[in-house]
Amino acid sequence: MMAMFRSFVSAAQLRQHQQQNGAAAAAPGESLESQFSCPICLEVYHKPVSIASCAHTFCVDCLQPCLQVTSPLCPLCRMPFDPKKVEKSSSVEKQLSSYKAPCRGCSKKVTLVKMRSHISSCTKVQEQMANCPKFMPVVPTSQPIPR
Ligand SMILES: [Zn+2]
Ligand SMILES: [Zn+2]
Ligand SMILES: [Zn+2]
Repeated sequence: MMAMFRSFVSAAQLRQHQQQNGAAAAAPGESLESQFSCPICLEVYHKPVSIASCAHTFCVDCLQPCLQVTSPLCPLCRMPFDPKKVEKSSSVEKQLSSYKAPCRGCSKKVTLVKMRSHISSCTKVQEQMANCPKFMPVVPTSQPIPR
């Protein structure tokens, strides 16, 4: 009986330890979908582009207004960047087409790259939006900061 108790405790401690280690890579409870969400529109990336100097990724359409000014700043970290050094993030794009996440409405597994079009046509999501008109998406500060 004592041995069983001890092994239970050490397993619990181990689990806690693993959680603490994991927290550095991704916040606990962080969904795959939120890891691949644009900090501006809070949706899964659509045509992701990365800023070379700080490696932050945004949808091309979301970053576009920032590129119109003479000295653009990263919308996330406010670091000045060279608009010529904004590149299509093919690694993120590749991951978007290889990962699946459950739809927030119908829980059907959808490839991340198709998530936007699924959400716009998913009746469950439409129902949810209609039920709570003041629905606030995740705040940008909860997004992981890529290093
Ligand atoms: Zn976006
Ligand atoms: Zn940045
Ligand atoms: Zn759905």
